[in-house]
Order: sequence, then C-alpha cells, then structure tokens
Amino acid sequence: MKLAAGMVLFFLGFAQFSWGQTSGSANLVSGDLSAPAPSPNSYVVFGASPRQEALVRAQIQIMQPAVLPLRVFFVPHWKYVDNTRIFHLHVPTGYTSAMFTHLPSRTVFIDADRYIEESLGYWLAHELGHLATSSPREDDAEKAAHEYRKRLKQARIEAR
Ligand SMILES: [Zn+2]
Repeated sequence: MKLAAGMVLFFLGFAQFSWGQTSGSANLVSGDLSAPAPSPNSYVVFGASPRQEALVRAQIQIMQPAVLPLRVFFVPHWKYVDNTRIFHLHVPTGYTSAMFTHLPSRTVFIDADRYIEESLGYWLAHELGHLATSSPREDDAEKAAHEYRKRLKQARIEAR
C-alpha cells in the first residue's frame, strides 16, 4: 500500500512536472538552444582581496584560455600545504609551488602568502595550460602556457 501510494504521488509529481514544462513558453526552449557561450567571467574567485580578484580576472581575460577554471581559490599558506597533501600533489622542482590545479574539479589553488604579484600571470598561464590540455604533465602545461604568455606579453606592450 505504501509503495502504491508512493507510485501515485510519483506519477502525479511527474505529470505536473511535464505539464509545467510543455505549458512553458516555446521561446524559453529556443532561447536555451541558442544560449550564448559562457561569459569569460563565469568562474568564481574565492578568498581573494578585490585587488587579487581583479588581477586574476584581468590576466585570464588577456590569455583567453581554451578552458576556463571553474574556481580560483586564494588560500593561506598552511591551507595550501594541506591541500597539496590532500590531493597528493607533487610539485616538481623548477616549477611553481605557489599554485596548483586540481584537474577533475577545474580548481586552481593559489598560495596567497607566497605568490609573487609580478609573476602571477606567468604561473597562471601554466595552470591554464593544465586545464587546456587536461593533462597533469608539466611539459604539456608549459606547451599550452607558451601561447598564453605570448598574449600577456603582447598586452603589456600595447598598454605602454
Ligand atoms: Zn604544473
């Protein structure tokens, strides 16, 4: 009996849901189909000062990466270290240790206490390289980063 009642409620709910869908304006449907590309600002920046957030957004805007992160986290150093441990991250010598990317969640972590503002774009290019190639390999990331760094350089020249 309980099951039957549940089924009826389920179907009623379902019917209502479908009815709501079909009675909706047809414009809504066509609107969905022609949805514009996601805005270049559609990722979220956490834990940043307004200045840090503006810097990250400006650099990413210039680099026009093939794949955007979903989230950028500025975290205090102790938390950053904690995260690298949680994600079993190995940072090879010679590569950045103030940023890393967790590929499955498209999340970039930035060590808020250790990053250097002048090289933020340079290392962000590397992390965006991981995202663009969907590869954890450092040489893949660097290859993609090369193009992004060129765009950063170009933007600096034009700003003069
Ligand atoms: Zn890397």
